[in-house]
Amino acid sequence: MPTPFNKPFATGKEIDYIQQAIKNGHLSGNGMFTKRCQTWLEQTIGCQKALLTHSCTAALEMSAILANLQVGDEVIMPSYTFVSTANAFVLRGVVPVFVDIRPDTLNIDETKIESAITEKTKAIVPVHYAGVSCEMDVIMDIAKFYQLLVIEDNAQGIGSTYKGQPLGSFGNLSALSFHETKNLISGEGGALLVNDPSLIERSEIIWEKGTNRGQFFRGEVDKYTWVDVGSSYLPSELISAFLWSQFEDNEMIMAKRLSIWETYDRAFYELEKMGKVRRPIIPNYCQHNAHLYYLLLNSLQERTDLIHYLKFYKIQSVFHYIPLHSSPAGIHYGRVEGTMKNTNTTSDCLLRLPLWINLDNVDQIVELIQTYFNNK
Ligand SMILES: *Cc1c(COP(=O)(O)O)cnc(C)c1O
Repeated sequence: MPTPFNKPFATGKEIDYIQQAIKNGHLSGNGMFTKRCQTWLEQTIGCQKALLTHSCTAALEMSAILANLQVGDEVIMPSYTFVSTANAFVLRGVVPVFVDIRPDTLNIDETKIESAITEKTKAIVPVHYAGVSCEMDVIMDIAKFYQLLVIEDNAQGIGSTYKGQPLGSFGNLSALSFHETKNLISGEGGALLVNDPSLIERSEIIWEKGTNRGQFFRGEVDKYTWVDVGSSYLPSELISAFLWSQFEDNEMIMAKRLSIWETYDRAFYELEKMGKVRRPIIPNYCQHNAHLYYLLLNSLQERTDLIHYLKFYKIQSVFHYIPLHSSPAGIHYGRVEGTMKNTNTTSDCLLRLPLWINLDNVDQIVELIQTYFNNK
């Protein structure tokens, strides 16, 4: 049987909750399941306001509107990330400014941020790669000093913490993803988390097509009308019902993922000591959520070989991002600050291994990789 890189996990209660949503007779957004999910996020992450969206991409686009960015403004971000981190801002005429990543956590190198700041800089967008936190103390200090917004791309980091504090609760705004490749899923899905009280009211308006519908339903205004720009960012109750079943099983999902992650990590200790691979580095003040397990190999050639070798045994392993700064749109819309040495090396040498609930051949995958290196 082939082993895919990812297999979406269903708790078994999704259909029940979807049926319940149908019975409730409320299928559009912002119904009972949406509210339940939002309250759960507010309580577990400790943010002021959570709004479900169609995707993390949509939440990032809302952030770019909320940040009041103007054409020509700049936002600082890593180049080693998904397209949407940059694209959400480019849609508003903003220039993404790419800086290199740290060689250990593969997150934005916080020591490179200050030299990228100009008078046009308006925000920093840290991406918590593999659900491992960026250096938030330093990033928040820089943002405070230069009066910049922080917008966390926390697509991968639900359930992770930095010095005990949940990721997604640091930035003025942060974005989550519930895409089927993430830890908690609804097919496509996401959420905008608002930690800055001054942005809450406008976030609801942007979410509801630029209307004050939310205030109307709470009885705060006597009619609802078009008051600002916005779009349709709310998912239907069918999606929220699915997502609720995942939230309910959050602890089990996290525990199972961590167990697979740790099995891989223990198994590759010897190969790392022999200098064949490098395992993920997790700072001791960061708790991660086992979003993904990767190995860093010594060269692009070695990674390509290993992908083909595993493929022969029907095991799908995959590389990750093509750096945004060297992509056609990144070259056109973005700007690079400093060298991109770690970004380029990581892009060439990182290999992601299958990690999903009920993956039952971790030992086989490990043995194949050990055999591959021992025979070289
Ligand atoms: C998955 C991901 C996204 C996009 O999430 P969608 O929900 O698919 O829009 C954005 N940024 C990062 C870092 C991601 O991993």
